[in-house]
Amino acid sequence: MSTEATLLTRCESKCELCAAESPLSPFVVAPHTQVTVDHAVMLCDTCKGQIEDPDTVDANHWRCLNDSMWSQVAPVQVLAWRQLKRLATTEGWAQDLVEMMYMEEETQKWAEIGMDDDADKPLDVNGVELKKGDDVTVIKDLPVKGSSMVIKQGTAVRGIALTDDPKHIQGKVNGQTMYIIAEYCRKK
Ligand SMILES: [Zn+2]
Repeated sequence: MSTEATLLTRCESKCELCAAESPLSPFVVAPHTQVTVDHAVMLCDTCKGQIEDPDTVDANHWRCLNDSMWSQVAPVQVLAWRQLKRLATTEGWAQDLVEMMYMEEETQKWAEIGMDDDADKPLDVNGVELKKGDDVTVIKDLPVKGSSMVIKQGTAVRGIALTDDPKHIQGKVNGQTMYIIAEYCRKK
C-alpha cells in the first residue's frame, strides 16, 4: 500500500484534526520534510490553510482539537499541541486543553521543536511582550531583504501577527506582509 493510501486508511478519510470529510492531503509535521506514515497527518484544506497562514486562523474552528488531541497518532498529537499552544496566547479554552494534554516524552520533545517557551516571546525595544493584534511603531529605518524598499522609522504597523521565531513579528507595510525584527518596534 502506498503511504498516502495507508494514511487514508488510518484517518478513515476524515481530516485528522477536525474530522471534516472534505478532500484531504498529507501534511508533514516539521521538522520532518518527507511524507511518511509516522510524520504526516491527513488534513482538510481548512486546517492546512490556517496552519500554513496563521493570519487566517479562526479560533473557533480549532475547538475540534478538543477531540483530536486525544488521538493515538503521534504526528496528530504534535500538530494539535502546537496549534493549541499558539491559540493559548489569546484563548483561555486552548490553554485549558494544553494543560490536559498528555504525550509520550519523545512526542513531547518533537512537539516542542521550534516552539517558543515562555522566555522566548517577541519583545519590543522596551522589553514589552508583543502579542497578536498589537499596533507597533518601527523605531529605525529597516531595509527589506531582497528589495530596495525601506520601512521608515516611525512607520505604524497595525494588527501584527506573531511568527514561529520570537525575534520577528509579521505585519503589513504599504499593503505588503513583512517580517519585522521585534526589538526594532515599540508597542503603541
Ligand atoms: Zn480539518
